[in-house]
Amino acid sequence: EAFDVVALVERVVKRMQMTTTTHQLQLQKNAESMVIDADPRRVEQILTNMIANAIKYSPGQKSVSIRVTKDESDYDALIAVQDYGIGIPENQWSRVFSRFERGDNARAYGIGGTGLGLYLCQELVERQGGRIWFTSTEGKGSTFYISLPGKSPLS
Ligand code: ATP
Ligand code: MG
Repeated sequence: EAFDVVALVERVVKRMQMTTTTHQLQLQKNAESMVIDADPRRVEQILTNMIANAIKYSPGQKSVSIRVTKDESDYDALIAVQDYGIGIPENQWSRVFSRFERGDNARAYGIGGTGLGLYLCQELVERQGGRIWFTSTEGKGSTFYISLPGKSPLS
């Protein structure tokens, strides 16, 4: 299904902003619209999970940045959700997307959850031909990325 991913991101950011009084969600985009071919409900679910994590794992911080941009390939969409929170220590990196994985960082800060969010995100992204990955520095924050295949100019 073809839809405008920029409009979807805007809508999800607005909705998630209403769930928090502690964080300001900042949206950056490099295009006014970007049509991709994916399942918009799934993309919404993925993004909701990523933003919920960013808020939850940055207690005491004020902002979360969301960027939606055209990827280098020129037709893939790249969405990044960046927080300035507790970060993920390197020894946990390999397990972040595992089913029922709750990181030691979450436990250490007493942050609750079931450990399913990112497992589900990975399933849903890959089922749509996309990729999910992250960068993180302990004590400084994390950025989670998803890349979704665009509507090929040839199709
Ligand atoms: P759920 O999302 O099911 O409520 P959860 O947030 O613990 O629970 P995931 O979203 O799958 O589960 O994340 C897995 C683990 O990865 C978390 O327990 C946490 O240790 C770590 N993690 C995920 N996102 C972040 C983030 N933005 N900053 C720091 N750690 C994170
Ligand atoms: Mg989660």
